[in-house]
Amino acid sequence: MKNKSIYIAVNAGSSSLKFKLYSMPEEQLIASGMADRIGQSLGEFSLKFNDEKYALELPIPNHDLAVELLLKSLIEKGVLPSFDVIAGVGHRIVQGGKYFSGSVLIDEQVVERIESLIPLAPLHNRPNLQGYFAFKKVLQTIPHVAVFDTAFHQTMEPQDYLYPIPYQWSTQYDLRRYGFHGTSHQYLVQELAKLTSLSPKKVITCHIGSGASLAAIHNSKVVATSMGLTPLGGIMMGTRTGDIDPSILHFAALKLNESHETIYSMLNKQSGLLGVSGMTSDSRDLEVAHLAGNERAILANQLFVRRIADFIGQYYVRLHQANALVFTAGIGENSGFYRQLILDEVKDALGIDYDVELNLKTRGKVVKLSTPSSKVEVWVIPTNEEIMIIRDTYRLAQKP
Ligand code: AMP
Repeated sequence: MKNKSIYIAVNAGSSSLKFKLYSMPEEQLIASGMADRIGQSLGEFSLKFNDEKYALELPIPNHDLAVELLLKSLIEKGVLPSFDVIAGVGHRIVQGGKYFSGSVLIDEQVVERIESLIPLAPLHNRPNLQGYFAFKKVLQTIPHVAVFDTAFHQTMEPQDYLYPIPYQWSTQYDLRRYGFHGTSHQYLVQELAKLTSLSPKKVITCHIGSGASLAAIHNSKVVATSMGLTPLGGIMMGTRTGDIDPSILHFAALKLNESHETIYSMLNKQSGLLGVSGMTSDSRDLEVAHLAGNERAILANQLFVRRIADFIGQYYVRLHQANALVFTAGIGENSGFYRQLILDEVKDALGIDYDVELNLKTRGKVVKLSTPSSKVEVWVIPTNEEIMIIRDTYRLAQKP
């Protein structure tokens, strides 16, 4: 292992810290794992390297101890000879606001800006920063890089990112559409450019997991995306509503006699597939229930698919056609069932022809589903947000 060749991609959430180690520039995955249930009475830690998996249960009271545990395990298990081989750490930061249209080396001013954005994404930016502080404490002298979920969407124009609210709310409080999953959408267009001879210019990317968003991308620049001020907006998701009439917040608070914080939390955590089905947010269970004829599961899936199809239609018009439609994330990569429901809603309008059998058996790998006669290429491309974090960290760490 060469000196200073290892880069770590970190995704720190409120109770978890996921990591992947890559050797650069060869982009070789060295190890991955996570600390989970941080702050609970019993936490879990796992580390995968070569073909080995190492897991243990122990209390992990905070992010500092999660990082200590991770770094100690990397040495103890012989994954790394010493910390000297670590050249940089890339941190996923969810909300970059209007300040960041690309990844940056983290310094005090960057930390201040990320902190100032906490009110816009309290569930994300705070733990993202905790992860950074924990790594910075131990790995003080190497570059740390912030990679923002919002950055790729900063190319949107005001008519795409502004909301029709009193204008001063937008200017004073920065209330606007930011969009999320940016690294994933960007990864998809970059991979697609390598895969297809068409060199598609107009692409609709569908990141459909428990959180889900679509983007309309023209010449590698985002012109529209479905998530909004927060990841609550856009299409319906596992537990989130997506776009709804804002009056629902007002009336639900009145009817249930609950605070708007409680209702807001219910729109985030008890709505979407879970809320409509009354069963689960997990698409695998809903697929089984749907096929068994469960009416609420069918209804939840119908709503879900309709909203995705509506956004695809909207983006097709926004782009004045599309060369390619790409699916990714938990559902988009793995579920032929959901992809079929979505494709069957849009195929006539968009002139899509796809291989139904191939779709049903495609799971977690790069596959072109459309036939040569299709007017829009349809692809499944597994996303890799970590490699995007690593690439940016490597690039910025090389700079003098
Ligand atoms: P994500 O947020 O990208 O991890 O996606 C989570 C969603 O993807 C959940 O609704 C899962 O049910 C779904 N999912 C994950 N793996 C599979 C799979 N192998 N087959 C079908 N759905 C899956």
